[in-house]
Amino acid sequence: MPDSLPRADGARVLADLNALRAIGAYKTGVHKPTFSEPHRQSLQWLAQKLPDAGLSATIDGIGNVIGTSTKPGPKLLAGSHLESQNYAGWLDGPLGVVYALEAARVLNAEPSFKGAVEVASWCDEEGHFGSFLGSRSYIGQVTEADIDAARDRTSGRSMRDALVEMGLAGRPRIAVEPGRHVGYLEAHIEQGDTLESGKLAIGIVTSIVGIWQYRISFAGEQNHAGTTRMAVRKDAGLALAKFCVAIDARFPAACGPRTVWTTGRITLDPGAPSIIPGGGEMLFQIRDDDPAVIARLETLLRTMADEVNAKGPCTVTVEKIRTGAPAMMNSSFQDAIEAASKTVAGGRSVRIPSGAGHDAQMLATVMPAGMLFVPSIGGISHHWTENTADADIVTGAQVFVDACRRILSG
Ligand SMILES: [Zn+2]
Repeated sequence: MPDSLPRADGARVLADLNALRAIGAYKTGVHKPTFSEPHRQSLQWLAQKLPDAGLSATIDGIGNVIGTSTKPGPKLLAGSHLESQNYAGWLDGPLGVVYALEAARVLNAEPSFKGAVEVASWCDEEGHFGSFLGSRSYIGQVTEADIDAARDRTSGRSMRDALVEMGLAGRPRIAVEPGRHVGYLEAHIEQGDTLESGKLAIGIVTSIVGIWQYRISFAGEQNHAGTTRMAVRKDAGLALAKFCVAIDARFPAACGPRTVWTTGRITLDPGAPSIIPGGGEMLFQIRDDDPAVIARLETLLRTMADEVNAKGPCTVTVEKIRTGAPAMMNSSFQDAIEAASKTVAGGRSVRIPSGAGHDAQMLATVMPAGMLFVPSIGGISHHWTENTADADIVTGAQVFVDACRRILSG
């Protein structure tokens, strides 16, 4: 990389990430649920750092931290989130926030450089109180009634109470300013093993998959497990188990190359050892970035249900409870990341879709958006052992800063 180009300070990036790791430390990771004391301290930490990057900091009425610049020229919004899953890793979220902070520190200070990086930390990406509440609030999709209804899924504490305890109640919420930003860029750990197994440094995200979720309910007949002959049983639990197996047998012929599906929860009613289940329910999820693939799989799912209903002895209903449109990442942003990776990471990059949800999918509905991944050791995430090699963290920061520069110069 030519010396004249501004570059990230790797030691500063690592020091910042370790400072955030020390707030709410748990083993080698962190326990930093949304609106916990360590989360509050992390938001304050960021707000105090933003002026070093020429940004003025605001923490808004839903816990988003936004750093804005008065520098003329184009502005790129960059960021991620600072809260964690319970007892989870130190990089899921903070990595993208610190890269954004570093890009702002490096680029905003360049007098010859037109434009600025603005920084965002989106609240509750990890979904303790809801689903992407911070970034959805920013794009105008969260109502006051949504906030009234939101509760911490672990403690049951209401979001209103939490906002009071955080000192944020009554503050206005910051909303997207149409036309202000040329786009949004987010860095994140991969949370999978594609980069590590390919000995790659950078993942250029092409899309963030959509998530479709279904409640599949089975109705049979509750009866005595000892006295009811096998021939006359209507066992909803057995019908459910057969349906699970049938999905696994038939989906591969209809799915796309990267489709994934999961039965994440099964409940039987009444769920007792001596009672034949009269009811059963499975929560079933499909992820893909192609709505046509999902449509095909949903049709198959409903056909399979029709077959069960025609054959008996139990009945099944399929109810769609969540539709998540996939978010496509902007192609010029992908090109900028790829060019940056060629310049500072020896081109060790690959284009991949993201199987996990990220705030970038919300931002992508209102402005061009892009994402880059750095490798996760062993592909582990949402666990306190989650980690990335320091050298990969530093390389990712170099690529991120250079990609921001290219996007703002483009
Ligand atoms: Zn995350």
